[in-house]
Amino acid sequence: MNNSGCDCCSDKSDKLMPLADALDRITSSLHTKSAIETAPLRQALGRILTENIHSPIDIPPHRNSAMDGYALRSSDITDQKRTLEIAGTSWAGKPFQGEIPTGKCVRIFTGAVVPIKLDSVVMQEKVERHDSLVSFPHPITQGNNIRLPGEDIRKGEQLLQLGKQLTPADLGTIASMGISEIRIKQKLRVAFFSTGDELRSIGEQLNEGDIYDSNRYSLYGMLKRLNVELLDMGVIPDDRQAVEAAFLVAAENADAIITSGGVSVGEADFVKETLEKLGQVDLWKIAMKPGKPLAFGKINETAFFGLPGNPVSAMVTFYQVVRPALLKMMGAENKKPLRIKAPCNQAIKRAPGRLEFQRGIINRSDNGELTVTPLTGQASHILSSMSKADCFIVIPAECAEITAGEKVIIEPFDSII
Ligand code: AMP
Ligand code: MG
Repeated sequence: MNNSGCDCCSDKSDKLMPLADALDRITSSLHTKSAIETAPLRQALGRILTENIHSPIDIPPHRNSAMDGYALRSSDITDQKRTLEIAGTSWAGKPFQGEIPTGKCVRIFTGAVVPIKLDSVVMQEKVERHDSLVSFPHPITQGNNIRLPGEDIRKGEQLLQLGKQLTPADLGTIASMGISEIRIKQKLRVAFFSTGDELRSIGEQLNEGDIYDSNRYSLYGMLKRLNVELLDMGVIPDDRQAVEAAFLVAAENADAIITSGGVSVGEADFVKETLEKLGQVDLWKIAMKPGKPLAFGKINETAFFGLPGNPVSAMVTFYQVVRPALLKMMGAENKKPLRIKAPCNQAIKRAPGRLEFQRGIINRSDNGELTVTPLTGQASHILSSMSKADCFIVIPAECAEITAGEKVIIEPFDSII
């Protein structure tokens, strides 16, 4: 890989690589998966669009009423004459077909075609009705309550761009154009496993020194939200042959491999050695907290991300590094997570040097003002902090102190999960 003599790539150096540099290096060395499939619209939710969608029709396709009421010619209403006779009814899906002589109006419902000669709709609450006669006591504005053809989307207009991850509204919008099948990227295949002799899967008994493997579950959740195809390879013991075998299977079957554990100093050589034998790998110390160690490499065309084992570090590194990298591989547009500023209601003192992602809780007042409270327990093994939190508090590397009430950057989880 890129062992261009940079200090932060070497195990022995204390020099840290800025997160943005690591991201640049990683994303620029990754390719977007090219395989495409055609899918029925419903199956495309959360998938990546690979074509620009142009509407084959005007939407709405016809002039129609925005209200339940009465359609009329505005010129038929004068100061002297404010009452018209009903000529018939136009229902949604059942347009009025008859003649409408001057001086007559049409009962009309929301979505119904406005007959060609009529130019205004008055809502039913604003008229007085006596059998087949309708009085219009208020002034009439020409064009009122009429929805025009193409007002939402014009025929031929490009509405959705390739690279978009399709939302529920996109499915509805595409359906409104009458399009039943679309072209999307094939799902990215991601294999993942945990490494560590101390790790037990849930359902197994814990002996002294054992812990349950939690990373594989948080990783599962984060990957599931990204809509990738998952290959869960379980827990792999700290055994050279087992790790090598797992890497070979993963590389054969996946576009990306994500592991956790075994990349911190002391263990690093072990994962690194295996990767170096099978492919190429860099071990980086990233100037972020929690996080820091990250292995990145390739076995043939399969990308490899080795996350730190500590559960919070694994999640933060996934969100900040692996997620944007996978989005690039998926061919998704690079939509950065929402960052907003809010006053922090507690002071924070810290050692500067690393970009920090503290876990926080957003307090919302009824009038829409936000403040944020950092959680106690910011150590990288306190996974419950990720469950309790609803945002990251993003603290720039150089910042040593935040005073109570000072504005900080927050990244709400809702915008990244
Ligand atoms: P390592 O990166 O392997 O040195 O692990 C660092 C810390 O994270 C140790 O306390 C490990 O027990 C813990 N750890 C590693 N992998 C996992 C996992 N999959 N689930 C929970 N904790 C883990
Ligand atoms: Mg370990």
